[in-house]
Amino acid sequence: MYAKPLELPFHILQYQACLNRLDQEHPARNSLDSRYNKTMTGYRGEALIAYYLDTLPENDYFLFHNLRFEKHAQVFQIDWLILTQRFFLILEVKHIKGKLIFESDCSQMLREIDGQIDVFDDPVLQVERSEDLLSKWIESHQEAALPSESRAVITSNAQLEIRNNQNPSMKLIRKSALLKEMNQINYLHRDPVISKKNLSLISRFLLKSNHPLVLNLFSSYKELKPRDIIRGVQCPDCSHFHLIRNKRSWYCPKCRHFSKDAHIAALRDYLLLFGSRITNKQCRAFLMIKSSAVAKRLLHEVCDHFDGEKKGRVYYLAKNLLISDKNR
Ligand SMILES: [Zn+2]
Repeated sequence: MYAKPLELPFHILQYQACLNRLDQEHPARNSLDSRYNKTMTGYRGEALIAYYLDTLPENDYFLFHNLRFEKHAQVFQIDWLILTQRFFLILEVKHIKGKLIFESDCSQMLREIDGQIDVFDDPVLQVERSEDLLSKWIESHQEAALPSESRAVITSNAQLEIRNNQNPSMKLIRKSALLKEMNQINYLHRDPVISKKNLSLISRFLLKSNHPLVLNLFSSYKELKPRDIIRGVQCPDCSHFHLIRNKRSWYCPKCRHFSKDAHIAALRDYLLLFGSRITNKQCRAFLMIKSSAVAKRLLHEVCDHFDGEKKGRVYYLAKNLLISDKNR
C-alpha cells in the first residue's frame, strides 16, 4: 500500500506558482524555468517507478514516495522507500538523457550529450549513504535491525557505460529490471524481522519525521522581489489575471467566464510563494478586492485557524489547499 503516494513535491508546486505569476520578460524567469524543468524531469522518473510498484501485493509493502529527513546538520532525501517486515529498500531514481558513464573509482557519473560533459555524484554512493542513515535511524527506534537494500534506478533510455569497475556492486539497474531485482531481494530476505505492529509504527514515525523541502524563492533568486509576483484571481478558462468580484462570484472581463471558487487557486499560490500566514489586508491586496468582509469570508473558508483580533488578526492557510486536480 502507498503510505505516501506519488505526488508533486511542495517545492515543484512553488516553482509552478512562481512561474505562473511572473512576467514573461522577468530576469529571473530563465533560471527559475531551468531549475523547474530539472526538478520536473526528476519527478517524471520517480513517477515511472510507480508503474512497477503498483503490481506489488498491497499488504506486504509500505511504499513511500519522496521522503526527506533533517537530522542535526544532516539532510537526506529518498525518492522511493519500500518498507516490509523483512527488509527495507531505497530507490534513487535518475531520469537523465544522453550517455551515462559511471566511474566507480572517481565516485562520479558523467553525462555526455551533444558533445558536452556534465558531472554528477555517483547515484550508487548517494543511495548507499541514505541506506546507511535510515538503517541507523530505524535501529535506534527498534530492538532489531531491519535488513536493508538500495538500488540506483535509471528510468531514462540513456546509454550506460561502466568504467574501472573492480568490484561491480550490481546496485545500478534499469527500471525494467526492477521487479526481477525485487524477486531476488525477496528471496534473500524471507523471514519477518519486525511485527506488523512495529511496521505500522515505523511507517507513522517516518511520515511524522518527513520534512518536505520548502524554498524561499525570494532569497534564492536575487532578481526576484515579492512585488514582481502578479496579483489577482486568475480565470480558470483563459488564464487572465484580475477577475472581478461580482455577487459572490468571480467574473472574467476577457472571456466572460463566471467562477465561484477561482480565489482558491490564488490563495494556494499565496501559500506556496509567501507562506501560510496571511492578514485580511494582505488577502485583499493579493486578490485585488476592496471589501474586508469578503476577504474575511474567503479566509474563513480556507484557513485552519487564526490568531489575534480585529486588524491584528493573522490567518493560517490550510495545507489541504494544495490538494487540487490541477496539481495531480
Ligand atoms: Zn477568462
